[in-house]
Amino acid sequence: MNNRPTTNFLLCPRCGRKTRTLVREDTELIRFPLFCPKCRYACVITFKKGKLEITEVPDASESF
Ligand SMILES: [Zn+2]
Repeated sequence: MNNRPTTNFLLCPRCGRKTRTLVREDTELIRFPLFCPKCRYACVITFKKGKLEITEVPDASESF
């Protein structure tokens, strides 16, 4: 039986496009710095049980 969980790219919470971060549906990320190469948005996210939550939104400063 092929019972492997599906693997997907995390979607950018800002532009909705795929980031380069791969997660499985049973992946858990705690305070993970997510960066979107498409719109250059960076934030800290928590990913659990297939749900993405933004933990920290960076200030206007460019440094992360
Ligand atoms: Zn984006």
